[in-house]
Amino acid sequence: ARQKHIRNFSIVAHIDHGKSTISDRILEATHTVTEREMQDQLLDTMDLERERGITIKMNAVEVHYRANDGEDYIFHLVDTPGHVDFSYEVSRSLAAADGAILVVDAAQGVEAQTLANVYLAIENDLEILPVINKIDLPAADPEAVRKEIEDVIGIDASDAVLASAKKGIGIPELLEKIVKDIPAPEGELEAPLQALIFDSAYDSYKGVILTIRVKTGVLQPGDKIKFMNSGAEYEVTEVGVNSPTPIKRDFLMAGDIGYVAASIKNIRDARPGDTITHLKRPAAKPLPGYQPMTPMVYSGLYPTDNAKYNDLRDALEKLQLNDASLEFEPETSQALGFGFRTGFLGLLHMDVIQERLEREFDLDLITTAPSVTYHAYTTDGEMVEVANPSELPDVSEIKSIEEPFVHAQIMVPNDYVGAVMELAQSKRGEFDTMDYLDENRVNVKYYMPLSEIIFDFFDKLKSSTRGYASLDYEISGYRQSELVKIDILLNGDKVDALSFIVHRDFAQERSRVITKKLKEIIPRRNFEIPVQAAIGSKIVARSTIKAYRKDVTSRIHTGDPDRRAKLLDKQKRGKKRMKAVGTVEVPQEAFMAVLKTD
Ligand code: GDP
Ligand code: MG
Repeated sequence: ARQKHIRNFSIVAHIDHGKSTISDRILEATHTVTEREMQDQLLDTMDLERERGITIKMNAVEVHYRANDGEDYIFHLVDTPGHVDFSYEVSRSLAAADGAILVVDAAQGVEAQTLANVYLAIENDLEILPVINKIDLPAADPEAVRKEIEDVIGIDASDAVLASAKKGIGIPELLEKIVKDIPAPEGELEAPLQALIFDSAYDSYKGVILTIRVKTGVLQPGDKIKFMNSGAEYEVTEVGVNSPTPIKRDFLMAGDIGYVAASIKNIRDARPGDTITHLKRPAAKPLPGYQPMTPMVYSGLYPTDNAKYNDLRDALEKLQLNDASLEFEPETSQALGFGFRTGFLGLLHMDVIQERLEREFDLDLITTAPSVTYHAYTTDGEMVEVANPSELPDVSEIKSIEEPFVHAQIMVPNDYVGAVMELAQSKRGEFDTMDYLDENRVNVKYYMPLSEIIFDFFDKLKSSTRGYASLDYEISGYRQSELVKIDILLNGDKVDALSFIVHRDFAQERSRVITKKLKEIIPRRNFEIPVQAAIGSKIVARSTIKAYRKDVTSRIHTGDPDRRAKLLDKQKRGKKRMKAVGTVEVPQEAFMAVLKTD
């Protein structure tokens, strides 16, 4: 009977269409938080999320709602990120839900990640409730958006909720629709336990805490459990729900979304996608897990202080628990020492991981330039996967190189189609098709090298379309390209961590740009530092960092102690994210200089 009163749903949308704000309104309307506790985007609990105004992690909360039929309902709501880099969070949350609220901005209409995310929901057989949000905006055109949802996505939007999360309009109607249209969970209480792990986090007291959706059976503290894929066995110490702070419960049953703790110390024992069952009376087979995510880009992560290598490994392991798409393995660099080659889903993901490592684990890191994975075919017929440009075999041993291509879709108003095509072409794009979304907007599709997309395509796309274009992409396969490796020499020494791979046609130009950039970024010393770019042994570009004349450090030893302390402090902070490479101090920025193509 309780099951009939449960509703499990995710909120999905393109970035900035208002998912987190709608979650806020639901928490308020259901008195889950008091007015005093309320703050904007309440579920974005990470500092980083609040500062950047984006959702990075999904968040599952339980709220209680008394419907117009007089009955009390329990909602489990999962807010999700909208950025393309975090779509694995969306797909994981959808596997735990029975329905999805699809939020579309009434002024922007359907955008690239609206489509990508709603297709994920459709694949998961979820009931979809369209909500047209921001109807308070002067530019809002709810009727046009309603039509667009029907034409482009192909779902019925005739009774889409018209809402303004900002003004609180449409929220009561939405709550009633959740009760009526999203199906109650099914799953027998008497059947053997099957619970899907869809998220996890590390707590230093309780060990690994898992967010689960119970599909069948009942789970309670004291139960002996087994993880069906890893084979690990534990005893449950606590179960509960987040509302939005953790609340202990006596049990979780089929249909519930909640958390479980079992003093799990080894994070490999309990990965998202695994199924929990009872040791006695186990389920016959595990639930379908998740497709493993393949990273799109790799970069090297190095502690600025070599002694912190083990701390970095521990930190990466803990973050991986919370972020199943993160991959890493040890690597060494002549220039930077011991570190990890780390795989990410995109540059925002990379940025977020680096910041989380620095903030949550107090590490000081250098991240090397991101690279896609190349396939190098050697003259003796072997294929070498190269995720670190400095490891590309010597030109004399290479027969051909392939690089990953993506199928990109770009949604943009008519007026900017010319600009988009020009940009895509300049990034080695190959035109595929163009479809009209409505009278004013088109969906342009291109095949493009992933490396070009990752570098500065998105920024350029935004600036050349006044922010109107949205982009989504998926890997389409590998293609042979004319690629060369560029090495960078500082003061005559090759710095392996600065090598990059680029199309032959762009080699000269990018070499020129990067040597110029490095000249601006690398601090002067009391001697001249040549900066050179080379293909093999041939120097293709160079610049010179001039020597400075005065020795400013001698000043530290004079003057009053207060001033001296300040100077030392400033010097210490200046050292952050800086690495001595031979006789040259290389700041973090230098490793990212390759991302700037002009
Ligand atoms: P998310 O990325 O989908 O989670 O979007 P957010 O909930 O973070 O909202 C993005 C921005 O849109 C924020 O600045 C919100 O204040 C604003 N916003 C959300 N809902 C509305 C609305 O109904 N009307 C208006 N005018 N702004 C809104
Ligand atoms: Mg959000």
